Amino acid sequence: MSGIVYLVGAGPGDPGLLTLRGAEVLRRADVVVYDRLAPSALLDLAPARAERIDAGKRPGGATLPQDSINRLLVDRARRGRTVVRLKGGDPFVFGRGGEEALACSKAGIPFEVVPGVSSAIAAPAYLGIPVTHRGLSSSFAVVTGTLASGAVADLERAATSVETLVILMAAGKLRAICERLVEAGRDPSEPAALVHWATTSKQRSAVSTLEDLPRAASEAGLGAPATLVVGPVVSLAGDLFWFGAGREAGEDELPA
Ligand code: SAH
Repeated sequence: MSGIVYLVGAGPGDPGLLTLRGAEVLRRADVVVYDRLAPSALLDLAPARAERIDAGKRPGGATLPQDSINRLLVDRARRGRTVVRLKGGDPFVFGRGGEEALACSKAGIPFEVVPGVSSAIAAPAYLGIPVTHRGLSSSFAVVTGTLASGAVADLERAATSVETLVILMAAGKLRAICERLVEAGRDPSEPAALVHWATTSKQRSAVSTLEDLPRAASEAGLGAPATLVVGPVVSLAGDLFWFGAGREAGEDELPA
């Protein structure tokens, strides 16, 4: 009998942000294939006997190419295993989860998607930024700042169509991304923030204007992974910042 593949969103970093469904399937996994951005503490939820495979990708080169990951998932499930594919954030938000689901579908392997808390929402939230806010923003877009080729994405359409822009894969090309947004018509004095390792004890951030943010981020030494937020809602961070004030990220805490 064929096994099953669970494409599980691990959340953005704080282990407490895994869903109950995610924890439940991890607890009965025979195989866990995990990413660099999936919180490592979550691996402890899997049985000790479970096979743990690091598919961690690094910018500029994958330790395991996507094809091999797809084949691995299908192969283990064919052998009757319960496979958990643990991915940072949500599996279908820039996580290539769609490709993995397609590989299962084509191979006739049953699969289930367990959505996760995306860094696109959680990174702003952990800086005190609601992505929508009555009177300030009624729309947001989540886009990538960097294309697979390494080039800066064409951000014009997103820049001109929504109030709040959330840009993932933003750290490496931050200056070029901010310049492109200004060229596309965003106000250089608009509030903008970069959040690095959001939701974890390593969270650090820079809040400034769109024009000045690259300088502020470089001064703070913020690299990848980082999420860029641009728009009037960023101004709420001053009043709404809560993280670290009385509640610390528990990178080692597991959901009970
Ligand atoms: N599927 C993931 C996104 C994968 S793309 C999700 O839904 O969150 C990887 C990008 O996500 C990184 O380049 C960064 O922009 C963002 N990211 C992931 N984890 C993050 C974190 N803890 N803090 C800030 N940004 C993060």
